[in-house]
Amino acid sequence: MSIAENVAAIRARMDAAARAAGRDPAEILLCAATKMNDADRVKEAVAAGVDCCGENRVQELVLKQPLGAYEGRPVHFIGHLQTNKVNKVVGKVALIQSVDRQELLEAVNKAALRLGLVQDILLEVNIGEEPQKGGFTPEQTLALAARMGAWPGLRLRGLMAIPPISEKKGDNCKYFAKMRNLYIDIAGKKYDNVSMVCLSMGMSDDFEDAIAEGSTMIRVGTAIFGARHYPA
Ligand SMILES: *Cc1c(COP(=O)(O)O)cnc(C)c1O
Repeated sequence: MSIAENVAAIRARMDAAARAAGRDPAEILLCAATKMNDADRVKEAVAAGVDCCGENRVQELVLKQPLGAYEGRPVHFIGHLQTNKVNKVVGKVALIQSVDRQELLEAVNKAALRLGLVQDILLEVNIGEEPQKGGFTPEQTLALAARMGAWPGLRLRGLMAIPPISEKKGDNCKYFAKMRNLYIDIAGKKYDNVSMVCLSMGMSDDFEDAIAEGSTMIRVGTAIFGARHYPA
């Protein structure tokens, strides 16, 4: 199957999942997770109508962006971001989805202020409370949202999560539901520098469950581009 055929098939599944949940399919965006795919393949996904692209590695972002890989669509940063690479990302992407620790939040704020801009971000939530994984606990997330006014270089647009690797279909529904509740909780408050529009959750293997539980953006790699081949 071509990238275009894969995107069309995913769109059909997104629409069906949205309708089954009584939701408007138009409120759910498809983010192509483009890691390990070159600029030409990313361009194919953009031409096929994905809503945005998500890069994991700074190295790939700075390589593909000058080649026009994302042209016509916003690009997001969705991977682990080292604080010493913040300057290569802030102002270069529409949204940093993976703000997963306070040190990074402060660094992004500083870089944005230096450039005289406001960087849109999501807070990454460690919703499975897995010790080996980054991200804020739900309690930390609530507390940070309330304090966003302290970081004038940032605007909080929502939340992102990567739930634990699941054994079987449906296992992640409880985590997705927790994320939705956290998201709704914050969106219902009136905090400075907070304007919630994005609940980013769901990947190739579980995006239908994520949509059923309220996702507004799914991040899909394998189902668009096929299996990734990591160098040995
Ligand atoms: C790779 C990646 C995805 C997509 O994963 P697939 O299972 O290939 O769809 C989504 N989110 C993040 C943060 C990723 O790194």
